Amino acid sequence: MKRWGAPLAVRTRLTLWYTAILFVMLLVVSVLSYSRLRWTIMQDLDTSLLTVAQVIHDTGYPGSDLAAGPETALRQILGPEFYDKFFQLVDPEGRPGARSTQLRDRALPLSAAARANAARGVRMFETVRLATGEWVRLLTLPITRRGQLTHLVQVGIPLERTERTLARYLESLLVLVPLGLVLAAAGGVIIARAGLQPVDAMSRMARRITTGEDLAQRIVPRGTGDELDHLAETLNAMLARLEGLFAQMRRFAADAAHELRTPLTVLKGEIEVALRAERSTEEYRRVLASSLEEVERLTRLAEDLLLLSRFAARMPPPRSRVELDSLLVDAFDVGVRLGQAQGVAVRLGEVCPAAVEGDAAALRRAIVNLVDNAVKYTPGGKVELSLGCADGRASIVVSDTGIGIDPADAQRVFEPFVRLDTRTQEAGGAGLGLAIARSIVRAHGGTISVESSLGAGSTFTIRLPLA
Ligand code: ADP
Repeated sequence: MKRWGAPLAVRTRLTLWYTAILFVMLLVVSVLSYSRLRWTIMQDLDTSLLTVAQVIHDTGYPGSDLAAGPETALRQILGPEFYDKFFQLVDPEGRPGARSTQLRDRALPLSAAARANAARGVRMFETVRLATGEWVRLLTLPITRRGQLTHLVQVGIPLERTERTLARYLESLLVLVPLGLVLAAAGGVIIARAGLQPVDAMSRMARRITTGEDLAQRIVPRGTGDELDHLAETLNAMLARLEGLFAQMRRFAADAAHELRTPLTVLKGEIEVALRAERSTEEYRRVLASSLEEVERLTRLAEDLLLLSRFAARMPPPRSRVELDSLLVDAFDVGVRLGQAQGVAVRLGEVCPAAVEGDAAALRRAIVNLVDNAVKYTPGGKVELSLGCADGRASIVVSDTGIGIDPADAQRVFEPFVRLDTRTQEAGGAGLGLAIARSIVRAHGGTISVESSLGAGSTFTIRLPLA
């Protein structure tokens, strides 16, 4: 059952629209054709009335032989043209003279307007009603002799047949127009249904997608290259993106679980071994210290995951003005400290005063992650930080002379839990540093990229829109 006030289906709306448009068109055509037909018939009647009147005028009827009856002479001249017409002669004072036998003692009315027109020598057509109630088309034509009005000829024809013809035409219209509308609406429903059938198929398919696995399904385009095929392509592209994102999420969950399991296993093992026998205080202390390390690792991991999910969800960062130059100097200090421990020389290059809108702590974290990596993967080398401003954007560049990254892996390093080969395993990261940096930068409307080659160092660049 359809709810009242519920939106109408597209096919119903389409059908209603073009039925309404067709109705208006048919109405206009009917009105125009009816009035055109009426006008033409009247025009014909008037012409034939004029012909008869002209003949009476030209034959000088009043003076001709009336013995054979008033119509006989006219019928001989006019033939069928005279059929069902009648006439009457009136003198200038309005006194009726000879008239058709058909009229018997009924006189044709002479209106004041017709008389006035006749006095000026002008003929007049009018539609009048006889005393019998009959409608008649009437022509009043003045006859002048030597500039003198001698008679008025009135020729009339009953309108009954004309009215009947017009009524029959109107009846046909009243049947044909609704019939046409019904047929058009039925055809419209069929066409709309056929036209929208691919849309139905698409929505049925979309409804079938209830689990992640179903995202592999695709709509088969019909190959017509029309709008519906474009829609199918768009939906397929969206499904492909969703499928990718879904796979990425699943990978992320699996990697996160794996990452959590390692320190937990270590923790469990150490505690179990410690509990297996009586231990010295010294030994308990060692186990506890080592357990604390694992717990700290877990806490860091949990915090990183939280941070990543916060920024990956594109939550708008708290907005405030952030002076990037002082953030960079801050990150440089951290780098210097880390570098000292690793024997890496960290220096500060060109720094332009730049400010952006955003979350200072998060942006600091993104830069520090890059500096931390640069120091970690540049044993005994050099790291340089700089800040440039051009084209309304700030560019934070962290370059190192370290082990570098294979260009084939350059994009992958920004994915969560990606650690390139074993050479860096002992450095101890969970592979979240760059993923976090990227999600923070993206949440600020910026981009992060890397240029690197194996053994030749790396250059990471963060670009942010200036405030
Ligand atoms: P991690 O915690 O392992 O450092 P990141 O997400 O920060 O994780 O980095 C991902 C991987 O990218 C690292 O494991 C490392 O292999 C590589 N990488 C990152 N920065 C550099 C760099 N400056 N030089 C060489 N390799 C790097």
